[in-house]
Amino acid sequence: MKRIAVGLATLLTLAASPAFATMKVVTSLQDFSSIAEAVGGPRVEVFALAKGYQDPHFVEPKPSFILKLSKADLLIVAGLELEIGYLPPLIDQSRNEKIRPGGPGYLDASAGCDILERPTGTVTRAMGDVHPFGNPHYWLDPDNGRVIARAIAARLTQLDPPGASAYAANLAAFEAKLTEGQKRWDAALGPYAGAEVVTYHNSWPNFLKHFKLVAAGYVEPKPGVPPSPAHVVELINLMIEKKIPVILIEPYFDQKTPKSVAEKTGATLLTFIPSVGGVPEAKDYISLFDYDVKLLAGALAAKKGTRP
Ligand SMILES: [Zn+2]
Repeated sequence: MKRIAVGLATLLTLAASPAFATMKVVTSLQDFSSIAEAVGGPRVEVFALAKGYQDPHFVEPKPSFILKLSKADLLIVAGLELEIGYLPPLIDQSRNEKIRPGGPGYLDASAGCDILERPTGTVTRAMGDVHPFGNPHYWLDPDNGRVIARAIAARLTQLDPPGASAYAANLAAFEAKLTEGQKRWDAALGPYAGAEVVTYHNSWPNFLKHFKLVAAGYVEPKPGVPPSPAHVVELINLMIEKKIPVILIEPYFDQKTPKSVAEKTGATLLTFIPSVGGVPEAKDYISLFDYDVKLLAGALAAKKGTRP
């Protein structure tokens, strides 16, 4: 009878708590949360500071973020100063030594990724550029997503060695899904290789490069600088001359100027989603590309039909 009672108690304990300690992962972007969730499975608990519908350069710090950071085992950031405006003081206030830059729980996801527009000369903010060390929107190339997933799997394995085989299996499953996705996306955008588009912020160089598309211009004269009337006139002339069919705008910018540019040039204004969670359909890293690729391919196809 005693033995049965002990056995039952053990069973109850097992049912109440998982057989492993959950890794608490905080990320600056929902994109990294999505990848960490795919790679970590039930071994991780993820939280993203910036939501996918917010400008990732300008995130409003909240006290709840400090609490999340204080308990984090791993912090994943885009780096390249994308988070410079809000994250460093939050890390300080969290008093969590593990997640400081250089710490075992700090992962800069840009390492190993294809980073575009790296400056060659002296870095200066005099131009109001919010991309001083290269373009920080690099997660929008699925090849970089693969690099990020591998880095996350490697780091989780270091921090939680008993999960090694689980992380390896989850990573393989994620990469297989990504490979399948890339076939769909390449097929959908392949016919438009070389097409030129205009974008509001310079969020898409990696996306455009990956799909062999070209940014002909930007509504912002410099990243982070609002459009001036003179710049808008130049942009309109350029778009008419080059017959640019589409303007891509991130969901968090005012549509007034780009709308009037679209009207004057006959281009289609598309709200393009730069992060997981930007719209409900973009619920994870794979469906983010499914959403954007379908939207852009549809707009380019419609323009091709009306403009020979
Ligand atoms: Zn930016």
